[in-house]
Amino acid sequence: MDYYSKQISKLIEELSTLPGIGSKSAQRLAFHILNMPIEQAEGLSSAIIEARKNVRYCKTCYTLTDHDVCPICQNTGRDHKTIMVVEDTRDLAAYEKTQKYTGVYHVLHGAISPMLGIGPGDIKLKELMQRLQGDVDEVIIATNSSLEGETTAMYISKLIKPTGIKVTRIASGVPVGGDLEYIDEMTLLRALEGRVEL
Ligand code: ZN
Repeated sequence: MDYYSKQISKLIEELSTLPGIGSKSAQRLAFHILNMPIEQAEGLSSAIIEARKNVRYCKTCYTLTDHDVCPICQNTGRDHKTIMVVEDTRDLAAYEKTQKYTGVYHVLHGAISPMLGIGPGDIKLKELMQRLQGDVDEVIIATNSSLEGETTAMYISKLIKPTGIKVTRIASGVPVGGDLEYIDEMTLLRALEGRVEL
């Protein structure tokens, strides 16, 4: 990319490290940024830095938050005895958008994948089991319907069964391999309402 000045090339290079951004998209974004008012560019860069610095895991449910304990876990109006297990914070956001789920969450940050070498110790599973020592009525497993999501669901249900806590799995109807965040709210609600005991 010698035909661009060094700083432009650097910007394009940094942008192209983002997922889903190829070199064409990176160039398009770079020139878009270069045409922004300086205040807007500063807002963008400080949003990145601030979020990266301050966002951490909720001490209870492990979602990403800028508080020690996230607003959902802090909310005393929610049912803290029902825990929905999801793969990541985007899945949590998808369920929150339905505005119908009143329980709390547990975010695994991944799914078990023998192919990728991701084992039970690599996701927030131990942390879930610790939470279950408290007063919990039901664990709803809402991992994706991909092979990894199903493997994780089976693994978790086997772990929880001996504790006597009710374990349910969201109904299928969620497209196979589909990321929860891309599914519409009605489908998510139906999957939640049609959950079955494992
Ligand atoms: Zn939380």
